[in-house]
Amino acid sequence: MDLSTFVRDIPNFPKEGILFKDITPLLSNSEALSNCLQTLVTNSPEKVDKVIGIEARGFFFGTALAEKLGAGFVPVRKKGKLPYKTISESYNLEYGDDTLEIHKDAIQKGEKVLIHDDVLATGGTAAAVTKLVKQLGGEIVQYSFLIELNFLNGKDKLDAPIYSLLNY
Ligand code: AMP
Repeated sequence: MDLSTFVRDIPNFPKEGILFKDITPLLSNSEALSNCLQTLVTNSPEKVDKVIGIEARGFFFGTALAEKLGAGFVPVRKKGKLPYKTISESYNLEYGDDTLEIHKDAIQKGEKVLIHDDVLATGGTAAAVTKLVKQLGGEIVQYSFLIELNFLNGKDKLDAPIYSLLNY
């Protein structure tokens, strides 16, 4: 199944010059949804303790992937959204910066962690999550993305194996 036919390009969203990869057609088609999840599962490491989903589009497959791998799910969220004690990491965006948070008890020392998001672009977001996981003592065993924008070289910011279902 060619999952790329279920990804819709939206030019100039959310701002001028960005070609947004819209995965809602993939989510809304039951066969594509199932095929996508199964492909992520097949290409994941055998032993994973926690799957991290990055707000918000990393939540769609992150939780299901965790369940299939026999792992727990951990949300990383934008500043101020998580209710318990957190640690946080700021990172640069194209304009200004943003802050991501994780609960401080979400990962135990030595746990094997898979970090999942919809798109790997410049890698700034995944790199910030990497710092959070390392601060808690987790070991990153894989980054998994639905889409990697190869021309932005996000992989250069990441130092564990990367699996990307679709490459552009
Ligand atoms: P980056 O930190 O540059 O790797 O950006 C990754 C984050 O921004 C992910 O959470 C994506 O959801 C979002 N993102 C960046 N570029 C795009 C794009 N072209 N289409 C859809 N989402 C994107």
